[in-house]
Amino acid sequence: MKKLINRPEAVVEEMIEGLVAVHPGLRRLEGRSVIVRAGSGESGGRRVALISGGGSGHEPAHAGYVGPGMLDAAVLGDVFTSPSTDAVLAAIRAVAGPAGVLLIVKNYTGDRLNFGLAAEIARGEGIAVEVAVVADDAALAASTGLAGARGLAGTALVHKVAGAAAEAGASLAGVAAEARAAASAVATMGVALSPCTVPAAGTPGFALGESEVELGLGIHGEPGVRRVPIGPADSFVDILLATILDRLGPEAGDRVALLVNGLGGTPAMELAVVARRAVSGLESRGLAVVRAYAGTFLSAIEMAGVSLSVLLVDDARLARLDAPTGAPAWPNASSTPRNRGTTAVPDPAPGPPPPAAPGPTTTATGRALGAALRASATALIDATAHLTTLDQAVGDGDLGLSLARGSRAAVEALPSYPLDDPPAALRALGQTLREALGGTSGPLYATLALAVAGRLESAPSTGDPAAWADAFAAGCGRVGEVGGASPGDRTMLDALVPASEALTAALTSGQPPAAALAAAAEAAEAGAEATASLPPRRGRSSYLGDRAIGHPDPGAVAVALWLRAIARSLPG
Ligand code: ADP
Ligand code: MG
Repeated sequence: MKKLINRPEAVVEEMIEGLVAVHPGLRRLEGRSVIVRAGSGESGGRRVALISGGGSGHEPAHAGYVGPGMLDAAVLGDVFTSPSTDAVLAAIRAVAGPAGVLLIVKNYTGDRLNFGLAAEIARGEGIAVEVAVVADDAALAASTGLAGARGLAGTALVHKVAGAAAEAGASLAGVAAEARAAASAVATMGVALSPCTVPAAGTPGFALGESEVELGLGIHGEPGVRRVPIGPADSFVDILLATILDRLGPEAGDRVALLVNGLGGTPAMELAVVARRAVSGLESRGLAVVRAYAGTFLSAIEMAGVSLSVLLVDDARLARLDAPTGAPAWPNASSTPRNRGTTAVPDPAPGPPPPAAPGPTTTATGRALGAALRASATALIDATAHLTTLDQAVGDGDLGLSLARGSRAAVEALPSYPLDDPPAALRALGQTLREALGGTSGPLYATLALAVAGRLESAPSTGDPAAWADAFAAGCGRVGEVGGASPGDRTMLDALVPASEALTAALTSGQPPAAALAAAAEAAEAGAEATASLPPRRGRSSYLGDRAIGHPDPGAVAVALWLRAIARSLPG
């Protein structure tokens, strides 16, 4: 891997520093991976604020769309990893005013969970929040899985329409309605000529032969829906347009805007070659191409290839597209006077101060909990490369790094956890994971920790193994509710639920805790292994359909790893 970076872990941080150094209209929210407009808050919140974001690696999305007439804030996760709930919440608190906030979210499980949970928390604080989900992917038939179509480059068009509506003073309900209407009037499909490499992973997410291309790719290097030999550009444009128009179902005479989007490694020359055919292809079907944009709007790091997005427009939506914007990544953005000043604005709502270090752990349960957390973290850190490989096969390759990041954060915070008060310690662990983990796993593991804590709080004694088994079962139940998955859907639940059942059964039959946990780990291992033959229905793997068969679910494998580590950490 050759990349112009310093350290893989520092890429997003250093990119943020560079973005605010280059663009005078952008500021970072202090201490956060959040970009806001310079002078944000000056409107006094009378205008609806717009927030988008997601994993990094899609530049110029989403920070490049922050500016007058488009977004108020962009929340940046690690590369291809959803930002944490707390980062989204910080952005909401920073830009929300009385008019409220619209979150524009690409349809990925992790983004939906983190943005959705942040919206829920913000509503509890009295902030009016609406969420608009973009699922413009035309490549995946609606039947591919419960996770549904992905959010792709059409999202940039939704930002533009919603941003202009907010700038014009529309109400929150009005801006949300325009965003949702635009989201359902846009369809996107792409073709990839080469894979991309997540800096911290170091190897490409998939391999593509010298003369192969991948149709209907995802923007995270998820393999596409069909692999075909390379052919003339026009032949691919025709395939993409046919699929896109099939989904949109326009009528002859309809007006459309076309977005030709480079995936990061495509020369402008090739974009123009593609745009030429796309415009003529649309016109030959009787459509009026009233606007066409070509450039890099939403990339997949250095992937070579292109996606086409078609948006149906009427006079009102066209006016939104044409309204001026100062966002640096929108074509023909008016330039703002250069003003070096400070590059950061303070975060108005920094998190709670770190808790005071508790005294030494004195109870047997507290010591066992500390040892279990440490053992889980070590096992997950040791398995980084293995989990990366598994997630590259059926997901986007970030799971190993995400879990290692969460594990390191937990080990670092461990001395601050009040281990003698297990529910409080687990709540603190949930907070650590919520901040550090990201992705889909972050909110789900945070949910698990919080739910186990909640149930333990009402148990007569936290020293009783049966209370832990009961709390673990409650936690698994909450993960199912929050993620909307059931056992058999090929997720971490396929390891969690059998483990929970085995734990309860072993304790009920009188086995000691260490043996009962070993039985739970064994059940998790069997459950994880069995996922290899299950069709994926949730999360990113659902995009692969039957191509996932033969590979175990990485999230389930991770559960088996940490459960085994906990079982070994207990004194026999
Ligand atoms: P992503 O990169 O897709 O946001 P992660 O890499 O953090 O997600 O985690 C992937 C794992 O999350 C999967 O292997 C699966 O076990 C689990 N997962 C995905 N969707 C769900 C869901 N809806 N409910 C429970 N677990 C899920
Ligand atoms: Mg992943």
